[in-house]
Parts: sequence; C-alpha cells; structure tokens
Amino acid sequence: MHEPTPESTAQVSTGTMPGPETVVELITQAHRSYADVTDGSVADYIPALAVASPDLFGIAAVGVNGRTAGVGDSEHAFTIQSVAKPFQFALVCEALGHREVRERIGVNATGLPFDSVMAVEIASDGLTNPMVNAGAIATTSLAPGRTAELKWRFLRDGLSRLAGRELEVDEEALASERATNGRNEAMARLLEGHGRMYFDPDETTDVYTRQGALLVTASTLALMGATLADGGVNPITQRRVVSEDTCRRTLALMLTAGLYELSGDWLYEVGLPAKSGVSGGIITVAPGKGGLATFAPPLDAAGNSVRGQLATKMLSRGLGLDLLASSPVAESTD
Ligand code: GLN
Repeated sequence: MHEPTPESTAQVSTGTMPGPETVVELITQAHRSYADVTDGSVADYIPALAVASPDLFGIAAVGVNGRTAGVGDSEHAFTIQSVAKPFQFALVCEALGHREVRERIGVNATGLPFDSVMAVEIASDGLTNPMVNAGAIATTSLAPGRTAELKWRFLRDGLSRLAGRELEVDEEALASERATNGRNEAMARLLEGHGRMYFDPDETTDVYTRQGALLVTASTLALMGATLADGGVNPITQRRVVSEDTCRRTLALMLTAGLYELSGDWLYEVGLPAKSGVSGGIITVAPGKGGLATFAPPLDAAGNSVRGQLATKMLSRGLGLDLLASSPVAESTD
C-alpha cells in the first residue's frame, strides 16, 4: 500500500464550487449588498494611491475548471501591491525549497502591522513572515538571479505565468512609490543588520517596489488565486507554475498573516486563506475549488479593504467555501 510522505498532497478532498449560475447570482448579490458601504479610507501614504475613486468596487471568481465570473469594476486596473506577496513567496519557495525559505525568512505571524519595523526588532533572529513588508523584502532578496534585473525578470515572468498574461508596471505609481519609500528602504537596511538580507538592500527594495506596481484587475487576481487553488496549475493556460506542495505552504502563510494583525479575525469569520493589499485588492483561495478576488479601495485601519472583507465573508458562507465549517453527514445526505 502506498504510504503518503509528508510532502505528498496527492490525497485531497475539498468538494467542488457550486455551478456557474449560483456563483454569478451570489457575487452579484454580494456586490449589491455592500456597494453603498462608505466606511474606510483610501490609502494615502503613497500619493499615486490617494487619487483612487473610493466608489470602485469589483468582484471576480475563477473556478479550478477555468470558469470566470465578474461583477462591477472587476476589469478595472490597479496596482497589485501586497497581493503580490503570496505569489512571490510561491515562486521563491519553488526555486529554493520550503526549508530554506522558512530558515531564512520565517513563517510565523508577526501579529503586527504590515509595515512594522518593530516586527524585525522583537524577533531576536530577525525572522518575520513573507506576507508583511519585512519578510517580503527578504523574500525578494532571495529571488534567483545575480543582478537586480535578473531577480526582477524572474519575479515578473513568474507572476505573469500565474496570471496567464504578461503583467505591466504602472510607471506613474512606481515613480510615486520610489519617491516615498523611506520606510521600506530602512527596513531592508535593518534586515541587513540582522543578517536577513540576502542581496543589496537598496536594489532589493527597488525590485520589491516594482513588483507591487504591477497592474492587475480583480479578474486577474481571481485567476492567480485559482492557480493556487488548483495545485499550481493555471486553470486557463493549463500551465503548471508551481508544485502542489508550494501551493499549500503558500496558503498556510496566507492563513497566518494574509490580513496582517487582523488575520485571526479573518479566519474566525471567513475560514479561508487570503491576502490583501493597500490599493484595495483581496484574494481569497478555496483549495481545490477556485479563487475569489475583490477590489474596493477604502481600507480599515490595518490596510484591508472594507467592502472586500464584507463581500468575501458573504461569499465564503454562500458558496460553502469555509474550510472550517462542517455539518453532520446524516443531515447533509438527507
Ligand atoms: N508597496 C506597498 C508597501 O510596500 C505594499 C504594502 C501593502 O499593500 N500592504 O508599502
């Protein structure tokens, strides 16, 4: 008899996404339910983000069968920002191996804001988590390539394969971020002081910043999420981008810190791995079923889209995606 190894994810049982009519009906309902919510504020620490319309609101879903549904501003382009972090982690993890990235970056929740400098200071070993800026900058420094340009190409090409199309940089947003990037630059230096920066800190920060300025839409993000839901194979291009094991490790990190210090609240309410970004995107992955993405710029105090969280919570329940939910077999087979 075949004994599964700890690395094996061959035996998976995750159920299926409801049919396309139900998905369209529910995302439309979620959009309608929260379109008028005006809570939260648009990020203003990067000037290019501050000009985003607070009314934008899009929701998209892509199943592991490639079926795509979108509502509202699901085709509106915005910069990916921190939603790139899990995908960047997946690419670097695939290249270096999961043990090495755990040893050199860390995988535990910091419990602190995404741009926390203190997170590096209070961890005696300088280890954080790839879902927050410090850990993501350290991850960037580990990307394969001898030069910043090669590291950038590795990341852009990999992210593009996950997205199933060539991703482009928003040059205006990038210039704006480069001009106001002191905190991330300081973080890279601090990591260097802790022996946790594996390439030139300034060049690394620049590659990290370029990656965050890649343009996506909610539909693109849902497909990238669906690739993580589909064991690393993009359901539209049918191309394998990363391994099954890399996918599940990436999802584990999204659970620990995908919504930063509010990741516990998120897990408590939604029960799915997710990742937010300051431009207003949130991706959520239902393993074996598909990816969801929301886009709505106004954020809560932790930097997570307010309407995105509300809509995803509704969809997790409505579509039966919550990984932690169960009901007795006898009742459900009645
Ligand atoms: N580029 C942003 C930064 O580094 C991303 C942060 C985020 O989306 N939370 O500050």
